[in-house]
Amino acid sequence: MAAIPIHDPTRPPLDKASTQTRDTTCYMCACRCGIRVHLRDGEVRYIEGNPDHPLNQGVICAKGSSGIMKQYSPARLTKPLRRKPGSERGDGEFETIEWDEALTLLEQRLQKIRATDPKQFALFTGRDQMQALTGLFARQFGTPNYAAHGGFCSVNMAAGMIYTIGGSFWEFGGPDLDRAKLFVMIGTAEDHHSNPMKIALSKFKRAGGRFVSINPVRTGYSAIADEWVPIKPGTDGALLLALIHEIIKLGLYDRDFLARYTNAGQLVNQDSASDQFGMMLRNAEATIANPLRPANFLWWDRLGQRAVDDHAEGADPALLGHFKLADGTPAVPAFQLLQERVKAYTPDWAAEITGIPAATIRRLAHEMGITARDQKIELPIAWTDSWGQRHASVKGNPVAFHAMRGLAAHSNGFQTIRSLAILMSLLGTIDRPGGFRHKAPYPRAVPPNARPPKGPQAVQPNKPLDGAPLGWPESPDDLFVDAEGGPVRIDKGFSWEHPLSAHGLMHNVITNAWRGDPYPIDTLLIFMANMAWNSTMNTSEVRKMLNDKREDGEYKIPFLVVCDAFQSEMTAYADLVLPDTTYLERHDCMSILDRPISEFDGPVDSVRIPVLPPTGECRPFQEVLVELASRLKFPAFVTPEGARKYRDYPDFIVNYETAPGSGIGFLAGWRGKGGEKSMRGEPNPKQWEMYAKNHCVFHHRMAPEHQYMRNWNKGYMAWAQSVGLRRDNDPIVIHIYSEFLQGFRLAAQGKRAGKQPPQHLRKRVETYFDPLPFYYAPLEEQATDRTRFPLNAVTQRPMAMYHSWDSQNAWLRQIHTHNYLFVNPRVAQAAGIADGGWMWVESTWGKVRCLCRYSEAVEPGTVWTWNAIGKATGAWGLSDDANESQRGFLLNHLISEELPGQLSNSDPITGQAAWYDVRVRIRAVDADEPATTWPQFKAAPQAPGTGIAPRWRAFFAGQELKK
Ligand code: SF4
Repeated sequence: MAAIPIHDPTRPPLDKASTQTRDTTCYMCACRCGIRVHLRDGEVRYIEGNPDHPLNQGVICAKGSSGIMKQYSPARLTKPLRRKPGSERGDGEFETIEWDEALTLLEQRLQKIRATDPKQFALFTGRDQMQALTGLFARQFGTPNYAAHGGFCSVNMAAGMIYTIGGSFWEFGGPDLDRAKLFVMIGTAEDHHSNPMKIALSKFKRAGGRFVSINPVRTGYSAIADEWVPIKPGTDGALLLALIHEIIKLGLYDRDFLARYTNAGQLVNQDSASDQFGMMLRNAEATIANPLRPANFLWWDRLGQRAVDDHAEGADPALLGHFKLADGTPAVPAFQLLQERVKAYTPDWAAEITGIPAATIRRLAHEMGITARDQKIELPIAWTDSWGQRHASVKGNPVAFHAMRGLAAHSNGFQTIRSLAILMSLLGTIDRPGGFRHKAPYPRAVPPNARPPKGPQAVQPNKPLDGAPLGWPESPDDLFVDAEGGPVRIDKGFSWEHPLSAHGLMHNVITNAWRGDPYPIDTLLIFMANMAWNSTMNTSEVRKMLNDKREDGEYKIPFLVVCDAFQSEMTAYADLVLPDTTYLERHDCMSILDRPISEFDGPVDSVRIPVLPPTGECRPFQEVLVELASRLKFPAFVTPEGARKYRDYPDFIVNYETAPGSGIGFLAGWRGKGGEKSMRGEPNPKQWEMYAKNHCVFHHRMAPEHQYMRNWNKGYMAWAQSVGLRRDNDPIVIHIYSEFLQGFRLAAQGKRAGKQPPQHLRKRVETYFDPLPFYYAPLEEQATDRTRFPLNAVTQRPMAMYHSWDSQNAWLRQIHTHNYLFVNPRVAQAAGIADGGWMWVESTWGKVRCLCRYSEAVEPGTVWTWNAIGKATGAWGLSDDANESQRGFLLNHLISEELPGQLSNSDPITGQAAWYDVRVRIRAVDADEPATTWPQFKAAPQAPGTGIAPRWRAFFAGQELKK
């Protein structure tokens, strides 16, 4: 008889077993793996990966399986709370109130703001997964002051890639490791796309692929890399430009790909006397297919030796050379300008900056180039491109990349990531097998169609905002500024300070509102964002700002509402706390309208379905938003007669359509009256049940001929347009050269009519809005004496903890309760710091006392630590002597949200928080210093309603051991 495995996750429960299993979607990090939750007598006993889920295929990580301890955490908030009259913010003194009272209080306050000046209300959220709903709420309220955490996280990655290739890494695209031969991971920790990346890397390595990791620190995925290339933080752009230099010099770029699918061959105006200098030349006589994005560009046909319409039948564009149009206008192909730009970016130049030997840079460039050229893939899939040419097969160049926050969180990150996208394009790897592949709803137009509102007139009392609060500016006229060029948003997003801030600047909200620059606000609603701790730079000062008062005794930010499931550092500052549910207690949807879990072969969306009722008086934040939107009578939430449209959040998800009768809603699966349609169709009252029967996931596999070359794939475009993934069906040509950036530069130079930057920002815009990528040292580095602060300091998330979420989790605390500053032994020894000893780390902005750990896995110019393991005393249900507050530390105390002159410490193009730019020095502690971390904060008391879960429970063979 075959042996019965002790654990077979695919086997149904034994007969008479009192366990139940329920499918839902994990939310212990943002990767959204499918899970099966085992319940006994209504309690969670076990969580496993769902083998039938396309994303994780049964794989689960330490965080995912520890969800049980999040559910039963002593730090859970279970009752709405109000700050006790007479107590100060930060003291954490609360009294319980009823939900109805809390909602009425909010309704009345918000009603007043909405009827007078809607921008007095700001909504900022953390790593939530419902930005389609929170964004809709803000827009319907009429406030521009909304964003999630993207400006802090990786907006440079999104914007740098999307403004170049119309797609980005992680949720919207990634490396095709099933077919790649060479994989280069740069600036990535192990937290984005975690389980899928582990599965893909394991297959890739077993199949003989070569994995190169470029990172200041060798940790996580890098541990299994074939080669680790240490690099100094913030210098990735120099490396990438040197790689481009070498690839062009060696002629190892994919000329055919560049000529047909990028703007490398498009002619750029070189008449320096013209106000069109640097813009693409156009044929005014050409037929315009899409007036919203006229594509009447010119090529220099190297066969006919004359200017022709781009993609003219039989023409072959020159990529190099200097030409003159018939009217005498000097013109060059964009690629010529790129070649000229990178001429000085030699490997020897980059070696000085990056710390990577020039020979290594040359070898890597050569390896990338010949792998792409000599190991081509050809799939027998016929397809037709946007210009009507039929191709018998899909070809691929098997060099794949993956990059994330290590490149993004620098003030030079946008141009760095433009360089990466251009390198990937030179190698001919975009949406091709073995290279980078898009995931629905991407690719999108360069830039996508959504634009921010155009000025203060977009904000009107009792009216929805005129435009989505976030978008993708195409020209200076899309900026959200007033008549003087000043910002309209509280975070100064889409202003001349940070024109392309597609995800907002969460890290500047509290400072700006405290200072009243550009104006004070009344109410700040924060959801799942620990903005008094790790989701802010300059943590100690920001905490003071939250407590600071005006002359009349009112707080400078008068009303602070925090919605969270746990007692965090942030909740202590709230005037009103709304207890959220856990992910096991609520409905959620990972929507195509937002950030779905799509695969390369088609759109995938997924849901969470409650496996447990809410604990105590917890309510899902989604329900709170639907309730408030209905009470405040937002047009999208009430009938024309003013009656409530949606019973609750699940009802909203089923019945909401993007426009009346559009057939497009939050979920793409099982649409149509009986669930017979997908992607588009009438609302289906049984949609949730159908997701429940299908492991909470819907996967639409596109026809094979629609799965590649989607930027220029005629068949895909027609399908995408028919299901609402795209507004237009014109090709998405790769922007090697960005005339959009040049448009901003021309405005800064006073050569363009329309919106003009304020005088003090002209030079800044002119400098950074370069249509070609270039390298500059991070802004903080430029402003810092490098001899006094010789080291870079970076922070990253560990595998076992996500943001600050998990220090209340008893199982995960067994992996990390405190963090070290990892220092190269040579550097630590030179400073007289012992391995495991206490030390000081200091920046221009602050200092922290912490524990040192020697590590050979960090390049000598860098020190690093895990993010947000250190906690403030009293938060997260931890005892006052917990390791997290006594031995753990937060690097954010060393970082500043502003540079001298009150300019945000951010990328000047996108507003990405430059929290990886900080420069530090280290020293040993004095012999008589206490063995605790510094700074320390007054302990917040346990909030009412927390602590209902026991600190310890013991089980044996499924039975609880009672004392
Ligand atoms: S990778 Fe993230 S979503 Fe997946 S199981 Fe782990 S914690 Fe859950």
